[in-house]
Amino acid sequence: MASYSFKVNFLDKDFKIVLNYSVRLINMIAFFFNAIAREVFGMRVAITLACTECKNRNYQTNKNKKNNPDRLEVKKFCKTCRTHTVHKETK
Ligand SMILES: [Zn+2]
Repeated sequence: MASYSFKVNFLDKDFKIVLNYSVRLINMIAFFFNAIAREVFGMRVAITLACTECKNRNYQTNKNKKNNPDRLEVKKFCKTCRTHTVHKETK
């Protein structure tokens, strides 16, 4: 019985080490792919679009900072105004 419990403990410890290493490896791979994605897609940032008439923040999207360095302006439907209005980028 004693040897059995020792074996289980040993396996458990071994498994934890393997798990730890695989988690580290996955993190490394994820970091690597994130770096590639950033390089390929450029700097994409999350933005909020607010209606210029009622100032409601209606949409959340993202944009490429390289291609659109200044504030984005899009015509979109506003629920409060119940019509299409100009939506401007806010922080
Ligand atoms: Zn509005």
